[in-house]
Amino acid sequence: MILEGSCHCQRVRFRLESAHPYPFNLCYCSICRKTAGSGGYGINLGGVAESLSVSGEEHIRVYRAGIVDASGAVVESPAERRFCQHCGSALWVWDPRWPELIHPSASAIDTPLPTPPERVHLMLDSKAAWVTAAIGPQDQQYAEYPEESIADWHQRRGLER
Ligand SMILES: [Zn+2]
Ligand SMILES: [Zn+2]
Repeated sequence: MILEGSCHCQRVRFRLESAHPYPFNLCYCSICRKTAGSGGYGINLGGVAESLSVSGEEHIRVYRAGIVDASGAVVESPAERRFCQHCGSALWVWDPRWPELIHPSASAIDTPLPTPPERVHLMLDSKAAWVTAAIGPQDQQYAEYPEESIADWHQRRGLER
C-alpha cells in the first residue's frame, strides 16, 4: 500500500510504498521513547527505501544516536533518524546497513493504518519505570530485540499488503 506522511507543521510531506504497514512493533528503547513516543514507546513501520518521495526535504535534519558498545564506550549509531527541524516530528529511520529498507514512524503517517491483530513489545529492559506496558493476550514480549523482522512478522501471518 502507499503510505503518506507528514510532520506536524506540514513543511515536510512524504510518501512511500509499504508491504509491511501494521503498527505492531512497540519499541521501549530510550531512543524511541525520547524521540518518538511520550506513551513510553515508538513504532516504526517497514517500507521500500527507493520508493520514497519527499517534499520539504530542506526542513529535515538527521539524528544519529549515541549507543553504548560492549566495551562501555559511546559510539554513534549508523542509523539515521530523520526529523523536522521546525516542529520536531520524528519522520523515519534509514540505516546504511540495510539500505533497501526504510522505517517510517507510525506517528508521522496520515494514511489510515491497519489494526494489528497482536503486537510485539521489544526492548522492555529499557522501559521507563512509570510506563505500564499494555500486554494483550496474544502479544509477544522481548527484553531486547526479537529475531523476527518487521517483514517476517507480516509474512508469517499472511498480512503483507
Ligand atoms: Zn515540521
Ligand atoms: Zn527503539
